[in-house]
Parts: sequence; C-alpha cells; structure tokens
Amino acid sequence: MSTARTTAILNIAAAKNTDSDPCDGSQKKYGNLSELFGRNVFTLDAMRERLPRDIYRQLEPTVLKGERLPASIADAVADAMKDWAIDHGATHYTHWFQPMNGFTAEKHDAFMTPTPNGQVINEFSGKMLICGEPDASSFPSGGIRSTFEARGYTAWDPTTPAFVIEGPKGNTLYIPTIFYSYTGEALDRKTPLLRSITAVSKQALRILRLFGNTSATSVEPKVGAEQEYFLVDKRLAALRPDLLLTGRTLFGAKPAKGQEMEDHYFGAIPERVLAFMQAVEHRLYTLGIPARTRHNETAPAQYELAPVFEGANIATDHNMLTMDILRRVAEKHGFLCILHEKPFASVNGSGKHNNWSLCDSDGNNLFNPGDTPRTNAQFLVFLAAVLRAVHLYGVSLRLGTIGAGNDHRLGAQEAPPAIISVYLGEQLTQVLEGIIQGEDKEHESPRKSIEIGVSCLPPLPLDTSDRNRTSPFAFTGNKFEFRAVGASHSIASVNMTLNAAVACALDDIATELEKQVAAGTPINEATRDLLASLFKEHMPVVFNGNGYTKEWEEEAARRGLPNLKNTVTALECYSDPAVMNTFMRHGILSEREILARQEILLNGYVQSINIEASLTSSMGRSTLLPPALRCQTEAGKAARLAKTLVPDEGSLPEERHFLRIRTHVLGLMQALDALDEARALLKNPGDIFQRARIARDTVLPAMAECRLHADALENLVDNDAWPLPKYAELLWLH
Ligand code: ADP
Ligand code: MG
Repeated sequence: MSTARTTAILNIAAAKNTDSDPCDGSQKKYGNLSELFGRNVFTLDAMRERLPRDIYRQLEPTVLKGERLPASIADAVADAMKDWAIDHGATHYTHWFQPMNGFTAEKHDAFMTPTPNGQVINEFSGKMLICGEPDASSFPSGGIRSTFEARGYTAWDPTTPAFVIEGPKGNTLYIPTIFYSYTGEALDRKTPLLRSITAVSKQALRILRLFGNTSATSVEPKVGAEQEYFLVDKRLAALRPDLLLTGRTLFGAKPAKGQEMEDHYFGAIPERVLAFMQAVEHRLYTLGIPARTRHNETAPAQYELAPVFEGANIATDHNMLTMDILRRVAEKHGFLCILHEKPFASVNGSGKHNNWSLCDSDGNNLFNPGDTPRTNAQFLVFLAAVLRAVHLYGVSLRLGTIGAGNDHRLGAQEAPPAIISVYLGEQLTQVLEGIIQGEDKEHESPRKSIEIGVSCLPPLPLDTSDRNRTSPFAFTGNKFEFRAVGASHSIASVNMTLNAAVACALDDIATELEKQVAAGTPINEATRDLLASLFKEHMPVVFNGNGYTKEWEEEAARRGLPNLKNTVTALECYSDPAVMNTFMRHGILSEREILARQEILLNGYVQSINIEASLTSSMGRSTLLPPALRCQTEAGKAARLAKTLVPDEGSLPEERHFLRIRTHVLGLMQALDALDEARALLKNPGDIFQRARIARDTVLPAMAECRLHADALENLVDNDAWPLPKYAELLWLH
C-alpha cells in the first residue's frame, strides 16, 4: 500500500540523483562581495551623495544620534530617499514595524499618484516618510486601543536604515518605524528598545565621566544574535499539519538514531543545505546584514547562522529580516525552515544566543578587561553593574525569554535552566573574591597562559572565560552571552530588559560614586570600597558550575535566586512593583504599557496552546486513530485465528500483540476525550491568568497523554499505513 508519505520519501530519494549539481560551475557565484554588501540599503553614504550638503549636515545628527529631525528638511530627505529607491527598482514603499505579535508588519503603498491629465507621477513627501496611520485594529494592544478608536501610528526611526526588498515584478522601499497609539503608548517592541538604549547610554556616561572620560558622547549596546534553525524537506513537512500550523511536531516517536552519535555538530554541511545557506547569505548581504558564521548544530537537520555584532537597534531589525529570509529562501529550495524552540522531542531544540556588550562612541568596549583587570577599575564597575542587574532584576531578565515554545527547552538538559545566574569563569571570580577580601597587593597579570603540550605552538593565552554551555548568562571575554533566548523570539524584548536592568544598576552605582566624590573621596578609593561591597552583595548570582544539575537548583534556592520555570509563572511576576520599577524608573515602559504587555503575552500563550491542543485533537482522531483501529482489527483477527489453531497453548504472542495495540488505542481515545474536556475549559470566559494556568496545568498534560499513546502506536502500526512522516525521515532525509 502506498501512502502520501511513501511517495514523498521516494520522490526525495529520486531527486537526489537528478538535482543539478550546485557546484558544477553553472551557477552564478556571489561575485564581488563589496559591491553586493549593502547594495539595497539607504546608507549614510547614499544620503550624503543625494542630498544638498547643508541638508545632509542637518540630517546627520538625526541618523547617528537619534536627534529630532528638523521639520524644514523632511521633504528634501523624503525626495532623496524616493529617488534612491526608484533607482533601485522600487515602485512601492512601506512603513515597516514590529507589533506585539512577535512578527513584522507592512502595508505597501505605490509612489504613483494620478495627475488630472490622466498620467501618473511618483510622489513621496516628508509627511509620508515621517508618519503613517495603518488601519491596524487587529494588532494586539492589550486594551490600550479599543477597536472603535483603532488608531495606531507609525513614525520613522531614522537610527536604523531604510532598505529595498526585491520582488518578482518590482521592489519595495522599507522604512523602519515605531508603532504607537493615539494616546502615545508603545504598541510595538521597538519603542521600548529605543527608550532602553537611551537610558543605558545616559547612565553609562555618568560612570565614564567619573573616570575622567570627557570625549565619549554616548554608549551603545552591541548585539550579535546567533540564530539556530531546522531544515526539513518540504515534501515531508507538507504532510505534517502540526509543523505547518504550530511550528513543532505534536506527535512523533523517538527515532532509532537521534543526536547521540554527535555526528552532526560541526559536520560537513550537506550540499543542498549549503546551496540554501549561500542563497540566504546573498540576500542578507544585499541588505547589509553581516552574516559571518554557518555550521551544523547539535541535532540532525539543525543549523546555525551568526552575524557580526551591530548596534542593538539595527541588530534587532537585521535578526527579524534574517528569520524572514531564512523562511522564504527555504521555500524556494524545497525546505521548511523551522524556528520553533522545540520542533522535535528527543533531540535538542533551537535557541538564540544573544551576545551583548556596551561600547562607547569612541569605539571602546566597556567590558574589555584590558591587561590587568585588577587595576582596571572602570571595567570592574561595569562588571559589578551587570552582576547587580542580573541579581536584582533576574525576574525582569527572565521575562525577556518567555514563550510557550521556549518552555519546552529551558531547564531541559539542553538549554540553560530557568534560573538566571552569571558565569564568570574561575579566574575572574578569583579576582572578585580578592577584592571582597580587601587584598591590596597587585596581582601579576591575570591572563595566565595554558601550555597545550604541542611544542611547536607558543603558549596560548587563557581566555578569560571558558565554554560553560550550561550557564544562561556567561561572560565570554568582552561580552555577555545570554543563552536563554528562544530561536523564534524577537531580540527586541531581551535587549530592552537587559538595557533596562543594567541602566538601573549603573544609576545606583553612579549615584553612590558621585556622592562620595562630591564629599571629597578620591574616585579610586570610592570605587575600591564600593566594588568590595557590591561584589560581596552580588556574589550569590555568580555560578560557574554545571547548571543542569539538581544540586544547582537546590543551591540556587538557598541563594534566593528565582526559578521561574515557565512562561505563566514568569508573567505573573510582571506586575510586581519591583519588576515594574525596572522598566518604569527610566521611562522605558509605563505602568499601562506593562500591564498591556502582560495581557498580550498571556493571551498569546493561551492562543498558542489552544491551537496546539485543537490540532492534537483533530490529528489524533482523524489521522492517527483510523490506521490504528484498522491495525487493531487485523491484529484481533490474527489473534483469534491463532487461538483456533492452537487452542491449548495459553497466552499467545498474537494475543499479546493485539493487547498491546488495544491498550494504546484505548489509551489514545480516552486521552483525546480528556483533552477535549480540558480544551473546553479554555473557552470559559474569565481571568486571563486563570486561563493561562489551565493551559499550562491541564491542557498541556492532556496533550502529552495523547502523544504518549500515539507515539507507542507509531511503533506498532504497519509502517506503510502510518500517515505522518516519522522523525527518522524528517531529521535525516535531505
Ligand atoms: P560562539 O559563542 O559561538 O563561540 P563567537 O564568540 O564567535 O561565537 O561570537 C558569537 C557572536 O557574538 C557573534 O555574533 C559575534 O559577532 C558576537 N560578538 C562578538 N563580540 C561581541 C561584542 N563585543 N558585543 C556583542 N556581540 C559580540
Ligand atoms: Mg555562542
């Protein structure tokens, strides 16, 4: 018997022989990378070329520092942008924004305007550039906007560049914007990110000034987001409604071979995948996105793309574009690109390591220890600020990593635990302990060397960090790597929370130091005393050991570190006054915006579990039960026949086979009934917190029970009759 599944498998196998060879020289290569890179970006250089000099001079502070755009030059800037875009094939423009649904949004308008004499001209005014009013009533607002006054506005964000996206019959100019309500509240993820960048810059500058730095004019968070993803052949994915609709497999037995041989990680990249990666990079380069690293990840069919780090605002846009381009190009190459945090049980899920640092406007990374961190007081102050931020505002940071998908991953022995601690490495921890104990003597340079036992190589400097992959927040030499972020997440939220928390800590420290200095204490002395007490206070957040162990969970509890194991528990804390204060203190979010966000995120959680549960129910009943019942009938017949042939033999293997199938068929039917009852509870009107708890505590376990029986049936039912592509095929066949 042939099923759609077997046909797909055979087609994939056959295509392997007939696909054109991507490396046979017939394909176009990248060409000149420096010409390609940023080709579709309206860069500062492009602005300088196209604008009269005095207008460019007035515009520059807006682009570089986010200063207010002088109204008098708006039309000229719009005109230059339009001409540039038309020269790059654009017929349309769009205000591009990042609403709270976690995706990007766009509505295209043509430049074309009809004239009275029946012709058209291209038109684009300063007003059209600066402000838009999409009919945006369907975006989540958490009650900030009711539908009858559905006005939401978009406003140009000149601090991240406009760009052109190529389309089949013409191109479109994308203008990055923020999205806010009639009453001025943020309805997107970008507005609070921008506010947080301003806040952390202001507080960091206070510290720099205390250390005598008079030249830096701003401090910018820098971000490099490593993006993990899975690729599955489209012919198989098309037969998995769960992958298509929810981004993860709701059913699927553990395959005989998963990742245990560790033969995929950093393995040779399959040619078909390489062709895909290069096509992705080509598009990224035209948009000025500096994709640098590509490799196979831990799980079979899992890959990673990492860019060179950029300013947090641009890095956020670039990551959104990267995720979009990965999905689109995958389609063209016959793949489904999966960004979900846990698409497959039994192998690793996907995260997004968010590398973060602070850099001043003179180009100095403030987390660079220099040669002697012991004496590098400024570095230690910034380090203390991060420890304080993570220790005091760990709950806020955890909120940057929530999501129904990430709940399957955090704390599951493959990703960091939900406890947010900091990894510093042995060496730096020793330095901190020395400071706490008031050791005054100068250390020898702490950059110890390690002999690696190969005589032809010089001793290698010991990295100030090693590679403890179990820590959610690791200091890796001159940056922090926040590893708890989910692969599908917008990095706007995590960086907003990080900036907000660090701004609070820097504010506390600067206030104390300024007070001491004003009272006549020399800055070095004031710093030494303050550092000793700060490191002492915040040492409990430092943990260099294995974060996957039960002992750490217990130890963390003794240290008073929160362990918010899932999205609902974390969101319940969003409205705690101390947590709200992290965001409100520097005006990053208002109370109303926070409460709206809490509601939006809880709603999103309930919706996504509801969709998964509804699909589990329908797939269970209409896709999996029918072949299982047929199999049960066949097995029953075989058992009866055996019994008539050998009536005296006691328990027969045919009977045991039948009973095994029957157990799981019954189990699945009962579990599906229980799931439907649980789903009905979700529909009860009521408090969103209560519904979220039902989703977590009743619906998810009911889904797991269905899966348990269905996965057992997958290994019992006639292989040819099983309708869903199996894990071995999804993970290994491409
Ligand atoms: P890995 O952690 O996988 O070993 P790398 O250390 O090479 O990888 O870097 C990972 C990411 O960190 C890259 O995107 C890189 O650009 C980024 N990165 C490097 N330095 C900084 C920095 N100072 N601030 C922010 N991100 C950085
Ligand atoms: Mg990394």
